[in-house]
Amino acid sequence: MAVSISNLGYKKLSQMIFEWQAADRTSLMALFIVMEVALHWLWCFFVWWQQDVLYNYINMHYLYPLWLGVSVVGLFFLCMVKCLFHSKSNEALDKWQIVLITIYTLYIATVIVMIGYSSLFAGVSVVGGAMLGMMLIKRRNAWRMFWLQLILMLLAIMLPYFGVSLPNLRQLTIIHPMLDGQNYLTYNEIIAAENMVSALAFENNVLNWDDINEVQRSSAFFWRSTHLFLALPKAIFIVYMFRALLLILDDSRQETIRHANQDELTQLKNRRYGLKKMKYALSQIKENQDLSIILLDLDWFKSINDNYGHEMGDQVLVEISQTLAQSFSDETIITRYGGEEFLIVLPNTKHDSAMVIAEQLRSSIAEQVINVEGVIDFNVTASFGLYTLTYEERACIAQKYKTILKERAVSESGSLPIIKPIVAYRAESHLSSMQKMPSDICQRLISTADKALYEAKHRGRNQVVSANKMFAEQDDCAHSLYRS
Ligand code: GH3
Ligand code: MG
Ligand code: MG
Repeated sequence: MAVSISNLGYKKLSQMIFEWQAADRTSLMALFIVMEVALHWLWCFFVWWQQDVLYNYINMHYLYPLWLGVSVVGLFFLCMVKCLFHSKSNEALDKWQIVLITIYTLYIATVIVMIGYSSLFAGVSVVGGAMLGMMLIKRRNAWRMFWLQLILMLLAIMLPYFGVSLPNLRQLTIIHPMLDGQNYLTYNEIIAAENMVSALAFENNVLNWDDINEVQRSSAFFWRSTHLFLALPKAIFIVYMFRALLLILDDSRQETIRHANQDELTQLKNRRYGLKKMKYALSQIKENQDLSIILLDLDWFKSINDNYGHEMGDQVLVEISQTLAQSFSDETIITRYGGEEFLIVLPNTKHDSAMVIAEQLRSSIAEQVINVEGVIDFNVTASFGLYTLTYEERACIAQKYKTILKERAVSESGSLPIIKPIVAYRAESHLSSMQKMPSDICQRLISTADKALYEAKHRGRNQVVSANKMFAEQDDCAHSLYRS
């Protein structure tokens, strides 16, 4: 597919980066080169058009060969844009890319030598070319192009010092008489010489319009404008491309994160994300705060699938999920924990409040009318297991966990009785500076809530059972978390 300027929009660009074939991307690279060459062509045209004014600053003998070269290269790359098709084999494409980078590198080096000797123009060309290349052609080829350009650039800078004069359109007629016997000045030397001439022009320290016009017409002004004209559009274009690329990458990163954290069917967060958030909520919990979790499971869900079909089952899951999402604030962690099982984590929520919330949710699910294909209406119920981790229980768990770790460290330390107290002390101090909760604390809390959920099913479904109440009479505070 030959590319065109209309392909350069942000959306099209994203398609290009991720979906286009390598040949299309090479074709786009050729199009960018055509645009750059067109800029050079316009410059040649302008100089030819204004030659009566500009002949002082420009060696017109070099203009025509340069213009011809620019036109030929422009046409060559235009043909390349048209000729690169999907069907090119990878091997052929690689060869085309090498032709492209070789011709482009030689071309840009020649233009820089003849028009340039400006660090701005040369820098933008080398860096911009490499960045575009990295995006659009094989990175290995872009890397080659970058090094080739650098080498040519160094050569162009060094050669004059060895007496080799390279063609340069720039000429300084004002100071020409001073240059007898020396046919080459570096860019910095030219600037220095021009500054000297300017200083002479303002000798009397009075700035008037005549002086300004004089400077405006000066060679320095013309050449600086030339370098800006050649470098800035390319620099702006490269920055635009880079920005577009970063936006695309941002989008795709967000998309990846969204997919990794979200359940495709219900659009709720998935179990992995829920557990991660729950762990974080536990780590952030303040001294006097309680954390409650609710595990809810739809009742007789299998029979919905059996009676109305799997698709209808999916729709029920979606509708219930919407009810859940609408029932809570953003800081509540709502997760599709399993097939028709949902986990709700309520940070900073006391047991009684959590019970009220669960009860409200239970009745709103039970009252919700599910409509099958606009014909049959039915209701779904859910059973709830609830567990609240109170401050006292957290302290108890930490204490119990500490004891377990101490015992484990002592038993693993071998049989020397003398070192056992040291090992125990070290295990304790290590624990106080590290975690105070077992690493699988989330799973333990959820399995405690699951026991309450099981009890709710056992008691006839469509009800809320609190694990805290269930275990209230039994053993010590961290009862369920450490029972087998
Ligand atoms: P109980 O009241 O004891 O929970 O009964 P139940 O039928 O809800 O429980 P069971 O665990 O036997 O069945 C759960 C069913 O949920 C089985 C499975 O096919 C169905 N299920 C799980 N995930 C999906 C899903 O994404 N879409 C649909 N349509 N069904 C699902
Ligand atoms: Mg169920
Ligand atoms: Mg289930």
